[in-house]
Amino acid sequence: MYYIGIDLGGTRIKIGLVKNSELIASEILPAKSFNGLVPHLSLIDQSIKKMLNNHSILSLKGIAMAFPGIVNPKTRKVLSTNEKYDDAIDLDLNKYYQDKWNCSFYMDNDTRMAAVGEWKFGAAIGSDDFVMMTIGTGIGTSAVIGGNLLQGKHFQAGCLGGHFVVNYNGTECTCGNIGCVEAEASSWNLTSLVQKHKNMQQGSVFVKGQIDFESLFSYASRGDLVAEEVKNYCLNIWAAGIITCIHAYDPELVVLGGGILKSADAVVPFIKKRVDKYAWTPWGKVKIKTAELSDFAGVLGVVYCLKNKVDA
Ligand SMILES: [Zn+2]
Repeated sequence: MYYIGIDLGGTRIKIGLVKNSELIASEILPAKSFNGLVPHLSLIDQSIKKMLNNHSILSLKGIAMAFPGIVNPKTRKVLSTNEKYDDAIDLDLNKYYQDKWNCSFYMDNDTRMAAVGEWKFGAAIGSDDFVMMTIGTGIGTSAVIGGNLLQGKHFQAGCLGGHFVVNYNGTECTCGNIGCVEAEASSWNLTSLVQKHKNMQQGSVFVKGQIDFESLFSYASRGDLVAEEVKNYCLNIWAAGIITCIHAYDPELVVLGGGILKSADAVVPFIKKRVDKYAWTPWGKVKIKTAELSDFAGVLGVVYCLKNKVDA
């Protein structure tokens, strides 16, 4: 029995062929999520076709999609988006995939599915109370409490940690709010954060090159003053978001994922220290771990959810 998992990221689409919960083939396609989902659908179909041909597979049991927005997994409908694949609200993806591939279809929020992947196969195995936060183009969260994946009445519970307010006087967010974690410190606002250090920019090599989190951490470690300041600002914002997640969901473990893991050596010790110092957890210390499934946590998680539904 073969399944396809599709994880729609802001700039990359991860596609995996899964058999018995194991990834047997995978491909990562570049994506321009601001152009919508429709221009990407045929590329995804081609990738699926190639994987099936390469493995001489004649039929699929199901296709599952992890989507960066608020999703109703019961109706397999996208309810709300935030500048990524905005046209998906008007698409009947359930019908599209059932007609095209004659198999069942499932979808849910991307970070929620990454959390399921890490829960069943990665860093959170054995934990029934944990929070996942992915930091990249945006910031996603998900929570498992008492062995239950948090979904909520409107399917947004646990998902909006990237939109916890950490600075009520801060930057306008794409969600319409002000000073969200994501608006203060994620890839999409990094350049404007750097611009705020105009008076320090003389002598900074960092500001003249490609501005992303990898270069930020790299230049900060080499003593670039602007990079160092912006790095510290971002680390403090993320730590504040994580501490708020801890206060909201009472986890024993926080799993960190996303593109930021390239700089895990700088990020994890800082977050650990802040959490130990500032989270109100009289029972003990919350563990901080990095995700173990890297790019394919969402693919494995969403296929796991589809399988459990299909097999039920
Ligand atoms: Zn927001």
